[in-house]
Amino acid sequence: MKVLKFGGTSVGSAQRIKDVACLVCNGEQKIVVLSAMAGTTNTLVEIADYLHRKNPDGANEVINRLENQYKRHIKELYVTEASQTKAWEMIKLHFDYIRSLAKGLFTLFEEKAILAQGELISTAMFYQYLLEQNQKAVMIPALDFMRTDKNAEPDPAYIKEKLLALLQQQEAEIYITQGFICRNAYGEVDNLQRGGSDYTASLIGAAISADEIQIWTDIDGMHNNDPRVVSHTAPVRQLHFEEAAELAYFGAKILHPTCIQPAKYANIPVRLLNTMSPTAQGTLISNETEKGKIKAVAAKDSITAIKIKSSRMLLAHGFLRKVFEIFESYRTSIDMVCTSEVGVSVSIDNHRHLNEIVNDLKKYGTVTVDNDMCIICVVGDLEWENVGFEARAVAAMKDVPVRMISYGGSNYNISFLVRECDKQRALQALSDVLFNEQL
Ligand code: ADP
Ligand code: ASP
Ligand code: MG
Repeated sequence: MKVLKFGGTSVGSAQRIKDVACLVCNGEQKIVVLSAMAGTTNTLVEIADYLHRKNPDGANEVINRLENQYKRHIKELYVTEASQTKAWEMIKLHFDYIRSLAKGLFTLFEEKAILAQGELISTAMFYQYLLEQNQKAVMIPALDFMRTDKNAEPDPAYIKEKLLALLQQQEAEIYITQGFICRNAYGEVDNLQRGGSDYTASLIGAAISADEIQIWTDIDGMHNNDPRVVSHTAPVRQLHFEEAAELAYFGAKILHPTCIQPAKYANIPVRLLNTMSPTAQGTLISNETEKGKIKAVAAKDSITAIKIKSSRMLLAHGFLRKVFEIFESYRTSIDMVCTSEVGVSVSIDNHRHLNEIVNDLKKYGTVTVDNDMCIICVVGDLEWENVGFEARAVAAMKDVPVRMISYGGSNYNISFLVRECDKQRALQALSDVLFNEQL
């Protein structure tokens, strides 16, 4: 069985929902995971924000606006008036529930319950549409099987047991479920963090030992560079899980980084496909490496570089541990690290505790901070014994001031830290040299 996840952009309008229905009705058995319609989760966050600020009028205005949008979607989606009425009765329950949460005490618990409504609504609409089309579909509610443990990590054993039992209860061609939402260790409604529907699909794929996990979005697979920033990009046909993980983490938003691990461990291929062009090849992510190829480039903005220079580091041991402990104490993770005998530079993307971190680091050396930096990450078969690959990437950057270079951390990556204002020309230069040399 395959798992097919359709993101917010793929179910973003009545027409898109109809297109998805066409795609999934092909006689094969499958689990369909849906995100909320594009923009809905952001709107639900806005509603929760008003309620946290104790402004029910503001929240109500946004709720009414969202409700009207769904009224229009329903008119457009269903053919018969009976289906329209039925769908509206179902969706109205969700809006009534949101309004009921807006009345009392508003805590994190109510916020998570509000955020869950987007996926509950999109799946209810889709289910109703398939019924109208006389398709045999079964709803398997994510809140009945998707669960996190006390560390807020998914609980694979629980997920597998509950999901297999639900699938056995009813035979169907199409099983529909919600992405993103889950219950936590205390049984409360929770979620897998923003963009978490990809994670849902991957966890389900691993639980049922799926043949393939398909992530459907609105672009032709993973591109070899950011198509919004540089010209002449092309889809990448094949990626190793670790290459995909680096790209997803370093800014290629097409796939959520958490989605990689469950699929990788279960050795289930992940295919990125395009709802706008369903026959296009897309990108296949698997445990296979294409030898001798640089695959893609991605960039991550809003990075801060911190340098700690200290003569005490010379010939000393335990210096790096002391430095890293400071970051750990402020729950700030480090992305890049470069060391020399007299100093260490690191990069971080979470600036919340920057001042405290810098003050603490001053105990150990002279500290310099560079803001508004950007990590450019080149991904491919960069195994150290291959010759010439890293040289080509470095040569491409010859006109760009580079603050840090990291190579050798994995077999798949070389990263450059540059100024954010140089990002566009750095990405373009890498594209020209690595992928479009004939241009
Ligand atoms: P979905 O809900 O389908 O996952 P999202 O709206 O969450 O869609 O985000 C994916 C969107 O991000 C797509 O529309 C895609 O075009 C765009 N996108 C963001 N970054 C990149 C990138 N580096 N390469 C390609 N597409 C990107
Ligand atoms: N709807 C959720 C979000 O917008 C989850 C997802 O789309 O993956 O973050
Ligand atoms: Mg998404």
